[in-house]
Amino acid sequence: MVYLYLLFRKTAMSNSKFKVGICGGGIGGLCAALALSRYDDIDVDVYESASSFSEVGVGIGIWPRVWQILKELGLEDALLKVALEQPSNSEVPTFNYRKSDQTSGIDITTMYAKSGGLKPFYRPDFLNVLLQHLPDRFNLYVEKRLTSYTLSATGSVEMQFANNTLATCDLLIGADGIKSTVRRTLFTREAQHCGDESRATEIKSTIDAVWSGITAYRSVIPTDVLSKHYPNHPIFTQPTHYLGRNAHVIAYPIAQGRLVNFAAFSARYDVDNPKFEGPWTSTAPKDELKDLFAGWEPSVLALVECTGDPLKWAIHTVKPLHSFVSSNEPVVLLGDASHACEPFQGVGAGQAIEDAYILAAILGHQKTRKDNLIHMLSVYDEIRRSFATDVARRSRAAGKAFALHSEDLYFDPSKLQDLQQLLESVRQRWEYVWDSTLRIDGNLKLIV
Ligand SMILES: Cc1cc2nc3c(=O)[nH]c(=O)nc-3n(C[C@H](O)[C@H](O)[C@H](O)COP(=O)(O)OP(=O)(O)OC[C@H]3O[C@@H](n4cnc5c(N)ncnc54)[C@H](O)[C@@H]3O)c2cc1C
Repeated sequence: MVYLYLLFRKTAMSNSKFKVGICGGGIGGLCAALALSRYDDIDVDVYESASSFSEVGVGIGIWPRVWQILKELGLEDALLKVALEQPSNSEVPTFNYRKSDQTSGIDITTMYAKSGGLKPFYRPDFLNVLLQHLPDRFNLYVEKRLTSYTLSATGSVEMQFANNTLATCDLLIGADGIKSTVRRTLFTREAQHCGDESRATEIKSTIDAVWSGITAYRSVIPTDVLSKHYPNHPIFTQPTHYLGRNAHVIAYPIAQGRLVNFAAFSARYDVDNPKFEGPWTSTAPKDELKDLFAGWEPSVLALVECTGDPLKWAIHTVKPLHSFVSSNEPVVLLGDASHACEPFQGVGAGQAIEDAYILAAILGHQKTRKDNLIHMLSVYDEIRRSFATDVARRSRAAGKAFALHSEDLYFDPSKLQDLQQLLESVRQRWEYVWDSTLRIDGNLKLIV
């Protein structure tokens, strides 16, 4: 066990409450609010641009490493009420992997995970649990789209919103997702003041997210529709990942078995920095999926047949950032705003939750926050940035393996043993999500 001590200057307690403004009420922003609610001397205002706090109606999986954090935040009972599976600490099968881009598929392997494996949730249920646990003393605002911020003479952050309103806070947390306005404002300001043209260009080059070459198609299928079409479909009892060259499909039950989460992916690994024209999300005709999976095995065709027109999603990622925090202003990024990655580790939301947990612990521990804020933020950056960058790299490598590509392994896709080796490389990249925990004790000892 590694102990990393985070030491801060001890000074007298200040009486005034420290005000945190959180831009973005997704999983990252609401988890940050929840984690900060453990400290009575911190007040939080959450500003969400949408007209309500909501999530798209698809599934999300949470691994044991993040489940431990959610338990510590007091969410276990409420989350288990909306979870499909009951808790288990044993080794459990996660996904069954098949090579499916042929009429008769090949069973490759079943991946086992320790400590209960992946807990699937319906995203709106998950978000509701977070909302229900926020204290009344916190203010939640909707229809508040941040457009920019500036710094006041006293050092507080002045936020400007699209409806011509203003608000202030002592610390601004940018949890506003992949297209983050906080990231844009922060890096524009850093580039303006860095005094070096090539450095400024470098900083600005990370403002816009880039297309990963992956397109996702997402939908949920009513279980009764699928079972009429394909009685005893394998995914009713075993979450399955169907693999093929340049495309793959994941399906598993959610919402206490009422629905099946369906996610299909097509991948372009043949070009560097592929460009995506058009809207990032749209509704695609189901025929696009039928074309993509023509000739695949029957269990995949049945899933495609039973989806409606799916939500099509060009998966963009945030380039590795030089920092998750401002060098001299009380502004910090978390979640997808700082490290949106390809979704092939099942950890994007988990990463946002880890960010929120660590940031809150650092802020909560120190009572004279205003004096030490820039240093505290740099500690957060130190802990989270290299880790998140590594997760993004692993996630891309896992995605490649699912589309039957590999950067470091020669394999013949017609040989079972080679396919098993490919999946073993994924298992090794993944195992930290069930093999490790992240906990901070009362003395701000980070136990990893
Ligand atoms: C296909 C796919 C599958 C995935 N599956 C999983 C999975 O199984 N497990 C997992 O852990 N992760 C998964 N992820 C990743 C996960 O969904 C994201 O990483 C996570 O939702 C990020 O949360 P966030 O709060 O940082 O950002 P978001 O969820 O994007 O929330 C940002 C919020 O900020 C608001 N906002 C934006 N701009 C402004 C503004 N200017 N002012 C105010 N508010 C604003 C938005 O409306 C939104 O509510 C998946 C991702 C994809 C694409």
